[in-house]
Amino acid sequence: MSKTVKIRMYNVGFGDSFLITLPDGPLILIDAGFHSRGKGEFSGDELVEQIIKDVKSITGAEDAHIDVVICTHRHADHLFAFNSSLWDQVSVGEVWLPWVEDRKNEKAVRLWKKQASFAMNLATALSSFQLNAADRESVEFMLWNAGVELPGMAAAGGWSNAKALDCLHEGFAYRRRTKPRFLPATRTFPESFSCPDLPDVVIHVLGPPRDPELIEELDPEADGETYRALAMRAAASGEAVADMSALAAFGPEWQVREDEGGAEDLLTRNEKKWLENLATGADALLAATHVDNMINSTSLVLVIEVGKARLLFPGDAEWGTWKRILADDDARALLHNATFLKVGHHGSHNATPKTLVEEVLPEGIPAMISTQEGPGNYRNNIPLPDLVTALEEHDMRHVRSDQLPERLPRGFRKGDDGKWIELSIPC
Ligand SMILES: [Zn+2]
Repeated sequence: MSKTVKIRMYNVGFGDSFLITLPDGPLILIDAGFHSRGKGEFSGDELVEQIIKDVKSITGAEDAHIDVVICTHRHADHLFAFNSSLWDQVSVGEVWLPWVEDRKNEKAVRLWKKQASFAMNLATALSSFQLNAADRESVEFMLWNAGVELPGMAAAGGWSNAKALDCLHEGFAYRRRTKPRFLPATRTFPESFSCPDLPDVVIHVLGPPRDPELIEELDPEADGETYRALAMRAAASGEAVADMSALAAFGPEWQVREDEGGAEDLLTRNEKKWLENLATGADALLAATHVDNMINSTSLVLVIEVGKARLLFPGDAEWGTWKRILADDDARALLHNATFLKVGHHGSHNATPKTLVEEVLPEGIPAMISTQEGPGNYRNNIPLPDLVTALEEHDMRHVRSDQLPERLPRGFRKGDDGKWIELSIPC
């Protein structure tokens, strides 16, 4: 009998959670999250309950064991359910995170410090912006998702992205490999490796960029003008928060000390004037989107090679990451042999480059879109109709989690009243 790999997409709404069953039994979980305003079938605990139930039924074991747990990036819609205490019942082989989550890596710490400072300046200046209710809600959500504890945004039960990350760093009933594996581990691009928990599998890491200069491009402070404009606007808003640490969900070690900033002192009067003008004109929505994109750009982009199957899981990687991937012959060759696509970022406009669909991926491969169409600026135009059309034009049979047709395309089946959809592909 020919071997198959199974990819189960949980209908989490706007978010990602995929359970992969390899032909000889090992299990990989990629993400477990959802967006608070685009919920699907599950609450956080319910999603974990479902995963535990499924893992036990697939393995036939009394205790739930997942060989590799992967979190692509630190956004709620990818990790929120890792807040659940039910993970204490689950043992794991390894946990994989993007290298920027390595708390011992100085470059990673510096990146998050700058990002937090940018986000907090924006949060502080928020009251000085004339925003309509929908825009304000979008900005607030993006800031909260970036780790800023805005008043009124606290989730029930003290759940937060920071707490979910703690579970990924230290949680679970047992971990064969104590520390997470931070990827890519080297500057080799693409990086390929195998691990003892997944025999006969080769993992290819295409993102996030390991090169500090490339990460710099994704860093909000790289746009120094908006950064300083927001800082000035925050200072002038009169509502400056006396203790910035009150806003910060990620603790004092992630904040920029006063002596680390202070570029304003070095400015001439003309420069200050110019910055003040920029501050008045600064666009809160644009600045918040910048923070959001930067976090998406830290997404793991993986090709999981199992026999002849090549599963492409790009997280929410955006254009900056793709540009580099598409410019590299080895990376392109890997994608050219892909046999499955997890559509990036719930089908947004800049997470699936045209070249990828039109020129690089083979025609006719299956795809999954984990998404939730609905109101709200954050989800505007998601999934993008042009993208869905492009998939159709390239014979890429696909399902989206929020619209299950009566008859699923070949290879797909749904289970537990549509709580998940599973694709079997030969490997
Ligand atoms: Zn996402």
